[in-house]
Amino acid sequence: KKRNPGEHEFHQAVQEIFESLTPVFEKYPAYIQYNILERMVEPERVISFRVPWTDDNGRVQVNRGFRVQFSSAIGPYKGGLRFHPSVNASIIKFLGFEQIFKNSLTGQPIGGGKGGSDFDPKGKSDNEVMRFTQSFMTELYRHIGPDVDVPAGDIGVGAREIGYMFGQYKRLRNSYEAGVLTGKGIAYGGSLARKEATGFGTVYFVDEMLRDKGKTFKGRTVVVSGSGNVSIYAMQKATELGATVVACSDSNGYIYDENGIDIETVKQLKEVDRKRISEYVNFYPNATYTEGCAGIWSIPCKIALPCATQNEISAEAAQLLVDNGVKAVGEGANMPSTLEAIDIFLKNDVLFAPAKAANAGGVAVSALEMAQNSARVPWTFEEVDAKLHDIMKNIYKQSKEAAAEFGFEDNLVVGANIAGFVKVADAMISQGVV
Ligand code: NDP
Repeated sequence: KKRNPGEHEFHQAVQEIFESLTPVFEKYPAYIQYNILERMVEPERVISFRVPWTDDNGRVQVNRGFRVQFSSAIGPYKGGLRFHPSVNASIIKFLGFEQIFKNSLTGQPIGGGKGGSDFDPKGKSDNEVMRFTQSFMTELYRHIGPDVDVPAGDIGVGAREIGYMFGQYKRLRNSYEAGVLTGKGIAYGGSLARKEATGFGTVYFVDEMLRDKGKTFKGRTVVVSGSGNVSIYAMQKATELGATVVACSDSNGYIYDENGIDIETVKQLKEVDRKRISEYVNFYPNATYTEGCAGIWSIPCKIALPCATQNEISAEAAQLLVDNGVKAVGEGANMPSTLEAIDIFLKNDVLFAPAKAANAGGVAVSALEMAQNSARVPWTFEEVDAKLHDIMKNIYKQSKEAAAEFGFEDNLVVGANIAGFVKVADAMISQGVV
């Protein structure tokens, strides 16, 4: 904390890992001898840069860009770019740090990184978004590459932004390096099922966790926060598995539809028209809209899937969910539950799928996109989806086994942290003090 003052989100992410690893250090003193943890919490490289651009009124605007290249122990840095006004060094570092362990859990050869900007895409014209992303890439391009660092999307960065960034990268490099970014459009090197991967993967993971206890999604009431990329495809897969998704949200408020949210309408509103979720009630007058996104956790449900942003489930919200009978929580977003909220879930025997494990499907399919780009061969939707499903089952198995090995039966927070850590730590030891 002394070395990184004020970086609360980063401290929170590190604390969660540290608390899980104590038994690992007792069993394997080599990790202490090689000072692995202290090396791991120091990013290999932090890049912060000015992003000047001109708005539609001809005014010059300035934003701050970041790329944190955290760990290249097991592969090129890999992790998304987030465009949101709340972005700062602490947020990017917490995301980059988590990414190291998540990427390790996927079994793919990818290191950890993250980046973004405090640019707010909301309310900006297409041309403004293009000018901003081109300016952003004009600095970022010199730090990335298919074997160096491979960014992707995150909050506020979808197919449109990736497309503009890819165009600018290609122009600056004068080289068609498809594998430099993932989440690309299908026409120019993207992978089928990448768009669906994080949401589908989260539901595959939760399904695995439920089945292990003789339960399924079928007939359950589900609440999903957010209405972006992760939320939409989590809702779709949960519905396909027979659940009823009764609520979703955006940063302004939430909608409730006891008959089950119509996902095609949400897709049209959010992916195509870029409108607010409140507009849903214009199509389904029996549904209700309530201002304030935090209220969504007061809706009784058996399964909660937080898919919006960090720390969206406070201790109070967790207690409310428990009091209302929640049986399982699956984190689609990164670090959506506070440390206190996780404690409440675990103490009340709620099945809890932590973000690092549950939302790793997105980056796993990004690594499959890189593989297709290298081989110059596109795979079908079914092939990618089947690989994703296998990867999520395997992450569940690894996390469960690691927890059991150290005496933390069913604690997937500890299990995922240990399983993700060991592989990276072993690679670091093999590669010497670098
Ligand atoms: P999107 O930008 O597509 O959607 C984000 C959603 O969350 C929107 O509905 C947004 O509402 C809401 N939201 C964002 N910030 C806040 C906030 N401060 N308070 C309340 N609601 C908020 O992002 P993604 O779906 O891609 O990402 C969602 C989460 O999933 C993030 O935590 C991200 O890091 C994580 N994730 C994403 C992956 C991916 O493949 N995309 C992979 C792994 C994790 P509004 O429109 O009002 O801003």
